[in-house]
Amino acid sequence: MKNTKRVLAALLAALCVPALGSCGKDGADLPAATGFSDDFQKNLHQSEELSFLETDAGYYFTYGSLYYLDKDSGRATVVCGKPDCDHSEDSGCNARIGCDYMLTGGDAIYYVGCENEPKEVLSVSTDGAKRRHVQELKFHENTAAQSSWDQGIYHRGYVYYMDDDTVFRVPLGGEKDAAVALWAPENPETAQKTEDGGLVFNPNWIHYTLWADGDLLYFMANVQVEDGSYRDALFRCDLEDLSVRRVWVTPDPEEVGSWERAGVSVSQWYVTGDAIYFYLSGGDMWRGDLNTGKNKKIADTHGETVYGSAVFSDDYMCLLNDAPRRSPTDPEIDTAGALRHYGGDTVYVYGLDGELLHELSLQPLHDELGATLSFDLLFCDESHVYFLTTQWGTPSESSGSGDGVSFSVTTNNRGGVYLCRASPEGGEVQTLYQLR
Ligand SMILES: [Zn+2]
Repeated sequence: MKNTKRVLAALLAALCVPALGSCGKDGADLPAATGFSDDFQKNLHQSEELSFLETDAGYYFTYGSLYYLDKDSGRATVVCGKPDCDHSEDSGCNARIGCDYMLTGGDAIYYVGCENEPKEVLSVSTDGAKRRHVQELKFHENTAAQSSWDQGIYHRGYVYYMDDDTVFRVPLGGEKDAAVALWAPENPETAQKTEDGGLVFNPNWIHYTLWADGDLLYFMANVQVEDGSYRDALFRCDLEDLSVRRVWVTPDPEEVGSWERAGVSVSQWYVTGDAIYFYLSGGDMWRGDLNTGKNKKIADTHGETVYGSAVFSDDYMCLLNDAPRRSPTDPEIDTAGALRHYGGDTVYVYGLDGELLHELSLQPLHDELGATLSFDLLFCDESHVYFLTTQWGTPSESSGSGDGVSFSVTTNNRGGVYLCRASPEGGEVQTLYQLR
């Protein structure tokens, strides 16, 4: 189960700039934004690192600022449109945006802002110049509730989001009270308050990841199942009559083999048609039939990798042979826990039938940027797999003494963060933009 304590929210909120008025000049080099889908963009919803929104010709994404990425050229542009702006934190830059989940587009880009509580839907014009409050979202009056917030999604006119125990939907732009509860668990697990006001989170606390495909809404929730254990289970809501039923449960390790991390995390599964495709780090690639609940192994990925992470599209599963973070006491690992995955040098591209189609070497990035890299897969489309490459400095030792105690500290410095992509067909790897 994915840990959703969004502790970064407060940090990121500090980066936010209040709504800005329009600027004197249009962004001449910014693209006309057209062709936003009205449907949930499944392949773009698999990364915890960046939020993407697709147009005909490119992608909008956020990483402290709003960017536009042209699909053909791979060129990324800060969506600012303000003359002579250096896009820095103090510049009043149009593109500055905090934590945010992109929802949908049109003449403006709709997103969920995190700078205010309760959460609200905002819009920003496609030149970055105009911001607007669109609607406030309704939540339970429970202090713990909003800490469970995960990405809300947009699908066919509605925003779907969840509180700690309830899935809501509300029309985009609708009144707060127009929100309808679609589902709540029978025995909700909630955070308990301690005497000193702290919160104790039950490790079995329910959590959702939302998904939509055609006339169906899905959510993955951790619930107690028949044998008494807590498992990630997939629920399906028919958007015609709003009926909800459970269609799949994370299988037993005895069935699918052991894997490194318990459960199935958001980056490792993908629903399309009547199937859930899932990859288990340290295990294999599987297909679960959502009509029968039965699972079938479709690729022996364990033969290629010991560990890994994966992203899916309607055509592909892209698997990176990285590894989960080692013990925090391992001196080579950043003690702040920022390094979730490390290493990796090959992306394996499979068809959803399990056929291995391409092997992509990431060695050119190691050659270009140095040996200490980590990769985070973002998404794949019909022509590329996109990912972040992070440079880690060599561990540096520092020592000193204070209060009569001497100490030594080992730090791993985070260097550049690069948006990159690789083409399975051609094999080439491109560094597109240095984000930090
Ligand atoms: Zn700017």
